[in-house]
Amino acid sequence: MNTVNKPFLAKHPGTMKIPPLGMNAIGVEEDFCRYFNHTLGWEKASVSSHHVYSSCALVLRDRLVERWRRTQRAYDESDCKQAYYLSLEFLMGRALGNALLNLDLEGASAEAMRNLGLDLEEVQELESDAGLGNGGLGRLAACFLDSCATLQLPVTGYGIRYEYGMFRQKLEHGRQMEEPDHWLRNGNPWEIERPEFAVNIQFGGRSDFYTGSDGGLHARWVDTQDVVAVPYDMPIPGYRNGTVNTLRLWKATATEEFNLDEFNAGSYTEAVAAKNAAEHITMVLYPNDASENGKELRLRQQYFLASASLQDVLRQWVNKNGNDFTGFAEKNCFQLNDTHPTCAVPELMRLLMDEHGLGWDEAWDITSNTMAYTNHTLLPEALERWPVHMFGRLLPRLLEIIYEINARFMEEVSSRWPGDTERERRMSIVEECGVPQIRMAYLAVVASHSVNGVAALHSKLLQQHLFHDFFELWPARFNNKTNGVTPRRWMASSNPLLSALIDQSIGDAWRTDLSRLTALREFADDKKFRAEWYKVKQANKQKLAEMVAKDCGVEFDTSALFDVQVKRIHEYKRQLLNVLHVIHLYDRIKSGDIADWTPRCVLIGGKAAPGYIMAKRIIRLVIAVADVVNHDPATKGLLRLAFLPDYRVSAMEVICPAADLSEQISTAGKEASGTGNMKFMMNGAITVGTLDGANIEIREEVGAESFFLFGLTAEQVEAAHGHYDPAAIVASDKELARVMHLLESGHFNLFEPGLFDPVVQAIMSPQDPWLTAADFRSYVLAQQKVSAAYRDRERWTRMSILNTAASGKFSSDRTIQDYNRDIWHLLQVPAHVE
Ligand SMILES: *Cc1c(COP(=O)(O)O)cnc(C)c1O
Repeated sequence: MNTVNKPFLAKHPGTMKIPPLGMNAIGVEEDFCRYFNHTLGWEKASVSSHHVYSSCALVLRDRLVERWRRTQRAYDESDCKQAYYLSLEFLMGRALGNALLNLDLEGASAEAMRNLGLDLEEVQELESDAGLGNGGLGRLAACFLDSCATLQLPVTGYGIRYEYGMFRQKLEHGRQMEEPDHWLRNGNPWEIERPEFAVNIQFGGRSDFYTGSDGGLHARWVDTQDVVAVPYDMPIPGYRNGTVNTLRLWKATATEEFNLDEFNAGSYTEAVAAKNAAEHITMVLYPNDASENGKELRLRQQYFLASASLQDVLRQWVNKNGNDFTGFAEKNCFQLNDTHPTCAVPELMRLLMDEHGLGWDEAWDITSNTMAYTNHTLLPEALERWPVHMFGRLLPRLLEIIYEINARFMEEVSSRWPGDTERERRMSIVEECGVPQIRMAYLAVVASHSVNGVAALHSKLLQQHLFHDFFELWPARFNNKTNGVTPRRWMASSNPLLSALIDQSIGDAWRTDLSRLTALREFADDKKFRAEWYKVKQANKQKLAEMVAKDCGVEFDTSALFDVQVKRIHEYKRQLLNVLHVIHLYDRIKSGDIADWTPRCVLIGGKAAPGYIMAKRIIRLVIAVADVVNHDPATKGLLRLAFLPDYRVSAMEVICPAADLSEQISTAGKEASGTGNMKFMMNGAITVGTLDGANIEIREEVGAESFFLFGLTAEQVEAAHGHYDPAAIVASDKELARVMHLLESGHFNLFEPGLFDPVVQAIMSPQDPWLTAADFRSYVLAQQKVSAAYRDRERWTRMSILNTAASGKFSSDRTIQDYNRDIWHLLQVPAHVE
């Protein structure tokens, strides 16, 4: 039994020394009961589900908070350099399982729950995902935070505390329906509100120029409409190392509960309404993945995050160093996760000049030496541009600063290439043709000391195309940082059976050094080990089959090949190509062409942006084809297709351990990296994929024999531009022609004629940017090789083991070490042990 926690004053007056909390089943059980009964006021007899989960979370949070304080004190006392990861998205998923794993409290907590007649796994299912992101970009930010804490690097995440995260996807009559995700409804036991660190954020108004006491001309931003940014901190535990880093999320609130002027004028209700308007800023995550939508509220969100975070960092600097910023760039670094937080560039300039009195050159040195930019896409529809008139109305002082940055930059361009006005026009941060617009990507490149892509091919294409002019001007600024994912969440936590098997064979050091998995290679030749490996996969497939039965009403037989494509629905990711293949398999079955058949269960899942009509049509097609295929007696035991609703982090934790085949089939040159591909590889799935993004590096690591390659290369895709003739491709491929005929003839839409005409037209268009028809034949051939390989269980299992063994490079620990070596230059700071 714990003794009573008896606080007493330690050496430092005002600080209390508290005995550490129990890390065994007894300590956990005692604290759980205290929270459940006393804090939340519930009795055993009236168990309400979310109170059980909340109590459990609070027990763990207490244990994190101890370590959190010690970590932050260690950073503070060592006066180390710190990095800040600025991101509009953090797709964290659930926190409870992660805390259990990283605190090494899985066994103790399971025992404590058992003693109370509860099941820890069921308790974990009560937590809703923190879905504060769209997909890969937001999940990358979450994996990075996990790796930084595990590597004991002083890195803080800054983001937005959206009241509503990514929408919940429901299916009704074969269509996607969006439901708001009010994830905070039952409170969030992981966050701590920090009202003492609230900051003021300005919008609108104008610049006022005045002569300062130094005789110089200064600017101030006046007549603004202000909102308050209040931080909420979430603990980010490292893996069993005593470190807990911080994710600081900002919420918008009104400046005052009641605006007194309006109150006195009798406009009580208007004053209260103003409070509502302020809180709109952080109300909802924009659900567009890989496309911008140009809405003013989105720009407000972006500036709100940038300004609040910078003010927070500057406050801490000034507390320590006063107004002397000479060493600031040696102690601070901002990593911009795509262009979304790029308002941080002019905002840091503004704060340093207007609020702290620095001159332009000094402020520019600091800004350009602290900012680093990660690009996430080459797709033109994703490149953010803000109309100058909107930007100037919302952020007038920032627009002036951007103009000045651009004027000085244009001078640099013209001195490097005198008289090349065409190049100046191309490179200008302000696009002048048509409605003038700010090119956020160019602003980020001009102001950063590092610009990186997220896989080798992507970084190369950035230098050759999007940023070619900038690469010529500043080649040393450009670099690659191939993405990674955290093996703690994506293996240790989500695949305990495989983890235990790996531990038995090569030890457990792989959790923090994933390159150790290469030691598994020799086990690929061990027949007994292969049998164990196969058994684990089958058990994981059983769990996924249960989820598919429950959520899709489709029976998946675990002896079939589990063929999985889960990711955002987007034309460039080519879920359509996958569906064409399923239709082709169905056509073969109906034609009786089923000799040496490999049974397949095809799973497709993902959300479409609510305004992306074609993506929503593709979901309808998947569901319509599934309906025909699954209800045709001829397909029994041969083919199943299911669309899994509401794809999210906690679903992927069940899916990736169970997949046999990982579909990574984007048009070459379009997927920047992909990270789903890495999660699948780690868990022993084999990839069927194009030479795109990190697929190329995955194939390099595992070897061509254990990867099913197909499709045009990025160069061939580019060369096809203007010479693409899908009609000729279909005419020369009988099987593709049959598939297109099934689609056109209404076989999958008997009651809604014409429903899939837009899909057919997209495939048949010479302007189809995704070249779906071009890759059909080589995709089918690759899939035939997949089928043959899966029939040979020993061969397949060998390839599966080799994929896991070769996945070490794709740990986000490696990625973060690369960022730190080349960009951040942070020292490891172990947490204090008391
Ligand atoms: C990993 C992940 C993604 C990214 O998947 P890609 O296949 O790289 O597009 C998107 N959403 C969720 C929930 C994920 O876990």
